Amino acid sequence: MIITDTHTHLYSEAFDEDRDDMINRAIALGISRFFIPAIDSSYTDAMLRLEQKYPEQIFLMMGLHPTHVKDDFQEELKHVEEMLSNRKFYAVGEIGIDLYWDKSTLEIQKKAFKLQIQMAKTYKLPIVIHCREAFDEIFEVLETERSADLFGIFHCFTGNLEQAHKAISFNMKLGIGGVATFKNGKIDQFLKQIDLKHIVLETDAPYLAPVPYRGKRNESGYIIKVLEKLSELYQLPQDTIAEITTKNSKDVFKI
Ligand SMILES: [Zn+2]
Repeated sequence: MIITDTHTHLYSEAFDEDRDDMINRAIALGISRFFIPAIDSSYTDAMLRLEQKYPEQIFLMMGLHPTHVKDDFQEELKHVEEMLSNRKFYAVGEIGIDLYWDKSTLEIQKKAFKLQIQMAKTYKLPIVIHCREAFDEIFEVLETERSADLFGIFHCFTGNLEQAHKAISFNMKLGIGGVATFKNGKIDQFLKQIDLKHIVLETDAPYLAPVPYRGKRNESGYIIKVLEKLSELYQLPQDTIAEITTKNSKDVFKI
């Protein structure tokens, strides 16, 4: 069984004490592909070191996270562009809009999101979207960039059925993680109406740990709990879910 964690912050400070043990625990469970979203330039070196250590398992993205879009965002975008032009990355992410933490930066968040979508198109890469309390704003930007070469993943999808269909209409897969196991997570109520070909698995570790670890530090190995939940929702064996969602991740990341 090959399980793909399409979104995990393995370089996070939360793993400084036991990073290799945590990664090896996940590998032992069958999680052998880890896609690593960027946040800002301060993490780039740590990401590159991780890739060097696990070249067969770790695949990097490059991008500026919406909560890190500040006054210096043009400088940060220069870094993103420079890195994309220098070497291989597998997606532009995570990018998007977050109105939970800071509404005052909405305009520059939109601008950074749009510019990074355009970079993804230039480099023929998927985008990985971070959306928090900003579905309308995200869809508004995506609408202006709608095209055959726009594709990617709507990471940590937490919307309703209508928003799911809308995301899919922009060639996005839905990244499903710990929230699917939450009692009040809501997506478990309609997910089976979405064809599995649109779904990829993720943890967003160290955030959003699935039940029964909710509230604790998340790690990639806990993706098994998400797999179990989807197996129950879709009434399919876990290895079938793993196989289909890994194939979907290959379709997106081209590896
Ligand atoms: Zn993330």
